Amino acid sequence: MRQEEYKNILIKYIPEAAFEQVYALMMRHGLRIVVTRHRKSKHGDFRPGVKGKPSIITINHSLNPFAFLITLLHEAAHQLVWEKYKRSVSPHGPEWKKKFHELLQPFVLQNIFPDGIASQLEQDHLSIKYSTSVDLPLARQLKEYDKPRQGLVLLETLPNQTQFRLPDGKEFIKLSRRRKNFLCVDVANQRQYIFNPLAEVIAVNKPNDNK
Ligand SMILES: [Zn+2]
Repeated sequence: MRQEEYKNILIKYIPEAAFEQVYALMMRHGLRIVVTRHRKSKHGDFRPGVKGKPSIITINHSLNPFAFLITLLHEAAHQLVWEKYKRSVSPHGPEWKKKFHELLQPFVLQNIFPDGIASQLEQDHLSIKYSTSVDLPLARQLKEYDKPRQGLVLLETLPNQTQFRLPDGKEFIKLSRRRKNFLCVDVANQRQYIFNPLAEVIAVNKPNDNK
């Protein structure tokens, strides 16, 4: 595949201004990137090559360009650390943190990221979180660039005692804050669950009848 063809595909997913650097990185390190369907559990992953097969990085197609790029660099750092250390270091240990920062820095310096994201990345620098989905401030910054999904709101924006529904149809009532998360109760079986404040839910408007 020629550079132009890579470009046509990649700029659907990453900020266009980042293309040259991403392309150079892919060529230099032989990164193979597979864009996948939306996976709720993760943004992407790195699969080390086995039995002579090449290593593969997978990334969800549904990420916004900034989240996609950060995920790409996160997984690229896994590949580079893997090639050097194999299993002798922990996946998000100091070697990985150093490599991730090293890969990220040129994009920050080139002003690829909007100020909010860039300053969050800067703040995280000394304590880079292993996943954007547990790094709430960064996740919040990144979310601003997601296309709004019809009818969905963030759980954190609903008042306590609001009934809401998940996209899969299950209904809950938001009860109270638990550290950074929210305690909610399943309307069907009264079981309690902890929810991420950035969970995307549908508010259900029902009279408060306390049945
Ligand atoms: Zn990771």
